[in-house]
Amino acid sequence: MALTEFSLIQQFFTQQKVKNASTDLGIGDDCALLSIPEGYQLAITTDTMVENVHFFAGTDPEDLGHKLLAVNLSDLASMGAKPLSVTLALTLPQVDESWLQAFSKGFLSLAEKYGVDLIGGDTTSGSLTLTVQAMGLVPKGQALLRSGAKPGDFIYLTGNIGDAGLGLKIKQGYVCENPQRPLQQFNHPEPQVEAGLALQSVANACIDISDGLASDLGHILELSQVGACLEWEALPLTTEVQAYIKETGDWSMPLTAGDDYQLCFTIRPEQVQHLTIPCTRIGVIETQSGLRVSKSGIIQPFSSKGYEHFS
Ligand code: ADP
Ligand code: MG
Repeated sequence: MALTEFSLIQQFFTQQKVKNASTDLGIGDDCALLSIPEGYQLAITTDTMVENVHFFAGTDPEDLGHKLLAVNLSDLASMGAKPLSVTLALTLPQVDESWLQAFSKGFLSLAEKYGVDLIGGDTTSGSLTLTVQAMGLVPKGQALLRSGAKPGDFIYLTGNIGDAGLGLKIKQGYVCENPQRPLQQFNHPEPQVEAGLALQSVANACIDISDGLASDLGHILELSQVGACLEWEALPLTTEVQAYIKETGDWSMPLTAGDDYQLCFTIRPEQVQHLTIPCTRIGVIETQSGLRVSKSGIIQPFSSKGYEHFS
């Protein structure tokens, strides 16, 4: 028998214990209630994933649940906010219990890992569309903004870049000798929550790589009214991405591919000694506007737009 909306929520989304002192009331009433501790600001973000736009039809629901929450926690991480709670709006074409079981498992295990409370949501029928609103806490005035980069800042990246892009190419038919790592990065990205927190009073500006390094760094450049030069040879590339570039000649892929969910941040050279997270220096912020890439000793302007929904 098909589940009703109410029993569906009961069965799949109300099993967790409340993890945060700030959660005064979770799922069950018309609204959830949160208390914001003295001296903190609430950071709020929303991301939607639409079938056939953000993910392929038939994507493993457990990966999908994980990724939906991961992309939202990644936005909190890029502001240096500590994840607190989320709401989940589900639009489903039908009630498929095994799909919901796997989806909620992927979603709730990541929530558990970072101590995030699922405090409410909405459940409707229609084309498969998944929306999360995530809330986090950041000490007043400490959030890492896109507008904070200064000429002379070094540009750093957590983790590697280009793996998720390669994972997407593999999904689209590219044959890769070792597909596991790129596919894992594409299907199951890890939000850089601890890194974001560690950067709180250290970095000048920060963004997460969702649309591509060039495009996302471009947002920092625009809002900070600065430019940058990236050192192509300094980009942290896995052997799989290096092999892909060697075979195809597509050297710009790590600069343009999205979905890696690493953090790109800028930092004053004097602050570098205070970095406590694994990261790689990939370039420098400059006064001259625009993005440049230095490759094989030649500096060239690099323009790249990330994925645009309406173009
Ligand atoms: P209302 O019609 O008043 O909006 P709902 O029946 O939609 O209430 O939801 C009942 C409760 O279940 C609310 O607390 C709501 O936040 C929660 N809820 C609904 N859908 C979800 C979901 N997909 N995940 C988590 N909580 C949900
Ligand atoms: Mg409702």
